[in-house]
Amino acid sequence: MVEICSLASGSNGNCYYIGDDNEAVIIDAGIGWRRFSDRMKTAGLDVCRVRALFVTHEHRDHSGSAKVLSRKLAVPVYTTFGTYNRIYKHHRPVDCRSIAPASVTNVGNNIRVFSFPKQHDAAEPISFRIEIGNHCIGVMTDIGVADDEVCKNFSKCDACFLESNYDPKMLAEGPYETYLKERIASNVGHLSNEQSFSLVRDHANPNLTCLILSHISADNNCSEKVLDAFNPFKDKYKIILASRYECGEVVRIG
Ligand SMILES: [Zn+2]
Ligand SMILES: [Zn+2]
Repeated sequence: MVEICSLASGSNGNCYYIGDDNEAVIIDAGIGWRRFSDRMKTAGLDVCRVRALFVTHEHRDHSGSAKVLSRKLAVPVYTTFGTYNRIYKHHRPVDCRSIAPASVTNVGNNIRVFSFPKQHDAAEPISFRIEIGNHCIGVMTDIGVADDEVCKNFSKCDACFLESNYDPKMLAEGPYETYLKERIASNVGHLSNEQSFSLVRDHANPNLTCLILSHISADNNCSEKVLDAFNPFKDKYKIILASRYECGEVVRIG
């Protein structure tokens, strides 16, 4: 039985759990130990199962607590050399292992973590597709554009933490400075609700059962807009909106 859960999602911290009965990995470390351990407990997930931490890129909402989580969990952190280099010196994890942007990392007996490069305004950003048992789980946030790598990897997923960051109208009319609006909407920014929907419409495989829509902007998006955009899929997939304030439902697959 595979279990997946969003422990935190959004610009104030990202952290995603993927595991089976014995082993688990955590993708991104954007929340501190107290919040992490509280949310794991609330979700009924066992911290002892965690075997490794993977970091997608250096932005604080993804890497800020990698050092402390790695130490508390006594597990290594895997990320690209470019990401490691850009993490503030005093935040760098002690046990950090460099992986190539396109690579496969075996974790424990049953987990294989595939990394692939993505378009985002960071040094050497990557996304992940995790093979665990017979299942494949994607973690794809902070993506400027659904390029070939994203499409190819998404098309293998049974479930995916998928970015649905902004509503274009809310972004355009919202409070942000022009340069920031342009950055978010650019090919190295974030995926809009529509871009995310199109990716699913065009590239989902028949085994896809669950979408955990993630990294939802607090200022440029809202639950109603996300659910509206994904309305055509409401009977086809289990659709969950990942929260920035609390851990989400633990989804069991298989
Ligand atoms: Zn982010
Ligand atoms: Zn980012």
